[in-house]
Amino acid sequence: MANEIIITIDGTSSTGKSTLAKRIAKKLGYIYIDSGAMYRALTYYAISNNLISKDFIDKKALINDLSKLEIDFRKISLNDNLEIHLNGFPVESKIRSLKVSDLVSQLAAINEVRTHMVKIQHSLGKNKGVVMDGRDIGTVVFPNAELKFFLEASAKLRAERRFNELKITDKGVSYGEVFDNINLRDTQDMNRSNSPLKKAPDAVLINTENMNLEEVENEILNHISIALPNSL
Ligand code: C5P
Repeated sequence: MANEIIITIDGTSSTGKSTLAKRIAKKLGYIYIDSGAMYRALTYYAISNNLISKDFIDKKALINDLSKLEIDFRKISLNDNLEIHLNGFPVESKIRSLKVSDLVSQLAAINEVRTHMVKIQHSLGKNKGVVMDGRDIGTVVFPNAELKFFLEASAKLRAERRFNELKITDKGVSYGEVFDNINLRDTQDMNRSNSPLKKAPDAVLINTENMNLEEVENEILNHISIALPNSL
């Protein structure tokens, strides 16, 4: 539709960006794109092919493989959501592990990787009607997006939320590991030279520390109803 826009939701790890972006997209009838899932899928590929570990990365092979890989989002039959696929296979259930989380930011700092991902992200947003979450969506990927949000909360609270989610599927995970991972990724994401995590000057800042998901969602929806009257 002619008046559809691009909405970006950036912020530090585990601030609830994906859950919120998914809910907002559903309300608007927009497509939801989880840009972090793209970096995670590539990390999963790199781990599976022994191209990355804690103190090693085969950058040359990884960059060489980029153009041969198919990283895209496809509808899966069970629901309407688009899910990340790697070379035609759904990999959502593989990419949330602590192992992937521990290595993803290293790989996301590589210039060629970012150029490749941003190209895919541009094509996904070319018809607008998209809610995309990530780290650089409002600053680098869609600097002209009509509506931008930036979410933040303390590392302690984010680690608690993430740990409560992860422990359902990963019984061996500890709170300390999750807390360390969140701090590690924040530091790496904020300090890389290419597209570091930062708030776009025109993004709405929401500190979610003392808010539940519904309250954050309502705040975002308020901004949307002002920017896009009659859309909700
Ligand atoms: O959003 P999520 O936590 O799944 O992202 C995983 C990692 O992917 C981030 O910690 C960051 O290193 C990278 N990422 C990025 N740019 C984005 C989205 C994610 O560098 N737009």
